[in-house]
Amino acid sequence: MASLDRTARAFLLSELVAGFALTLKYMFKPKVTVNYPYEKGPLSPRFRGEHALRRYPNGEERCIACKLCEAICPAQAITIEAEPRDDGSRRTTRYDIDMTKCIYCGFCQEACPVDAIVEGPNFEFSTETREELMYNKDKLLANGDRWESLIAANLQSDAAYR
Ligand code: SF4
Ligand code: SF4
Repeated sequence: MASLDRTARAFLLSELVAGFALTLKYMFKPKVTVNYPYEKGPLSPRFRGEHALRRYPNGEERCIACKLCEAICPAQAITIEAEPRDDGSRRTTRYDIDMTKCIYCGFCQEACPVDAIVEGPNFEFSTETREELMYNKDKLLANGDRWESLIAANLQSDAAYR
């Protein structure tokens, strides 16, 4: 009986017809895929992407070299050196993040008392060499300048929950 059933299916092409019917059914449904990189899905304001160092609106860097982010980093990915400036304020002379060590836990951002180091919305920063993932202060400040409007909006929308 089973072999008869198999033979009948083979002759009537019922599996092929069922496959075509399924294709036709989904052809007219809304698409669930996005055409990346031309289309992108929504990102949470809490998304933890590429790091950035932020500035105040007057251009002064926010970081006060307290080193809390360096101390809390579980991957020991952050290296900071600091000196007082001529005006007596304390600022970093070196701020490096080894992005190959980073586990994107967000602790550095949580520890920072002045919202200087943040994990921004950028997730498109893959590189071809490890060296390119050794971020220095210039790179981090440039990231901050580039993404500031989006970072500020994300921090604002999440402020009530922090
Ligand atoms: S996200 Fe976590 S692992 Fe990465 S630098 Fe910050 S504290 Fe370190
Ligand atoms: S980024 Fe924030 S936590 Fe880290 S040293 Fe600067 S002020 Fe302190």
